Amino acid sequence: MATVGVQHHKMFIGGQHQDADESYEIRNPANEELVATVAKGTVEHADAAVAAAKKAFENGSWATLGPDERREVMLRISEGLSEKVEELIEAEITANGATVRQAGGFHIGLAAPHFAYFAELAGKFQAEVGIPTAPYPTLSSNVLRREPIGVCAGILPWNFPLVLTLWKIGPALAAGNSIVIKADEKTPLSTLMFADIAKEAGLPDGVLNIITGDGPEVGARLSSHPDVGKIAFTGSTAVGREIMKAASQTVKKVSLELGGKGAAVITEDVDIKTVADAAIMGCCLYSGQMCESITRLIVPESIHDELVAQIVKRIGTLKMGDPFDFDTDVGPVVSKRQHDRVLSYLKIAEEEGAVAACGGKAPEGPEFEKGFWIEPTVFTNVTNDMRIAREEVFGPVLVVIKYSGDVDEAVAIANDSIYGLSGAVWSNDYEVCLDVAQKLQAGTVWINDVHMVTPELPFGGYKQSGLGRELGPDALNEYTEVKHIHIDLSQKLENRAYDLVLSAGPDED
Ligand code: NAD
Repeated sequence: MATVGVQHHKMFIGGQHQDADESYEIRNPANEELVATVAKGTVEHADAAVAAAKKAFENGSWATLGPDERREVMLRISEGLSEKVEELIEAEITANGATVRQAGGFHIGLAAPHFAYFAELAGKFQAEVGIPTAPYPTLSSNVLRREPIGVCAGILPWNFPLVLTLWKIGPALAAGNSIVIKADEKTPLSTLMFADIAKEAGLPDGVLNIITGDGPEVGARLSSHPDVGKIAFTGSTAVGREIMKAASQTVKKVSLELGGKGAAVITEDVDIKTVADAAIMGCCLYSGQMCESITRLIVPESIHDELVAQIVKRIGTLKMGDPFDFDTDVGPVVSKRQHDRVLSYLKIAEEEGAVAACGGKAPEGPEFEKGFWIEPTVFTNVTNDMRIAREEVFGPVLVVIKYSGDVDEAVAIANDSIYGLSGAVWSNDYEVCLDVAQKLQAGTVWINDVHMVTPELPFGGYKQSGLGRELGPDALNEYTEVKHIHIDLSQKLENRAYDLVLSAGPDED
């Protein structure tokens, strides 16, 4: 692979690269080396980006194109993503610590096909969505229209920076909007590279704007900006609440993809080896920094010890280290802040009485002196009222909670959470699986699987895991307004205010 080198990256506003007075240092979480510097945007940059997006929307360079024309440009963007896959993988790994297999398979590997899905939705977009018939006689005609909102904004986290950004840019563009993206401070490289890919593919200037900047200033400005009609946020539940508050000032549309504390209900009849591997995949993929990770395992007492022993044995075979090595299974966590946060939860868990069956600390050895490493950790002796079972850790940490064997008790434990993003049931009895899947309060439930997210199906959370859905055939609904146009055909408007029955037609005079 080519070396990215220490380059300086600028923001992208109104089709132009734009620098700022200050910059961020992007450091590789595996070795803390400087990877790049990036312009540090301000509130003024946010305002300029919104103005550029508004101008582009109003000049109609994108909003007035037909579905086929928008589809074509978006497909070219998807092709551009495929062509730049190696550079994007390298940028992603060096900024957010994903292993090369994870970056290739998920972080970057999903970008082009997911964007192509939105391109196809653009092609099918119908501004006029039907002429409803009234359930009573009427002399009127009615049209329903879906219209773009105008200027949308997206605020993104660091964990899947490119793909999660495309989940916002894709539907926004497919419906004819302009958009401003605020990338995360630590991982903006792949998103900034995307801006160039989109420009080369022919996206008109100002339709897409990428800015950086601190959340509480620049992100907050977008959330409250009077010219932003919709804000789409992915990040922590705490910040999601702030964004909702800020957006309420101008009553803008809000969609939120927030935190999770996914639980898997296990039944007594499972194959222990398979479930052990599924549990490890559920909590260790990308070092546990996935919002829909399975971090609570609800296990019947009868198989608890055997399952824990198998998980510990299999976790011992995972290779932690250099993310660029194809044999590496577990990379670092993204930053010192995240490292300290996970370590603090490991301490809290032990203080609460949980027992680390494996891990429970940062690994030792010369290869881990630099960078932000956490050993995959499994806690037993956990009850669902402990903080380690209730709060999102966002590290490779699994808690095992026992239940008596009554599956309804396991479901109650799983649902006893403020979160509801993901859940799973692992059982050999499909009737039990379907019953549990219906009872789990989560936006996505996997039966005998984990982590599967596909662009054709909606993704989002129950309860405090979010608001609205991304992906799926209805993804554009979040980025459009619905308008009802009523056309009077009765020509009896003078009486309408006194006798609504008159609208039934001429025979009822
Ligand atoms: P975060 O909430 O700290 O930051 C996310 C973004 O919000 C960043 O760009 C940040 O600059 C910005 N921000 C911070 N304060 C802000 C404010 N007051 N106003 C506006 N913007 C502000 O989250 P994070 O630590 O970067 O990401 C991890 C979190 O994201 C986890 O909780 C994880 O579960 C969640 N997440 C959810 C999903 C999902 O689809 N549900 C996907 C990925 C990550």
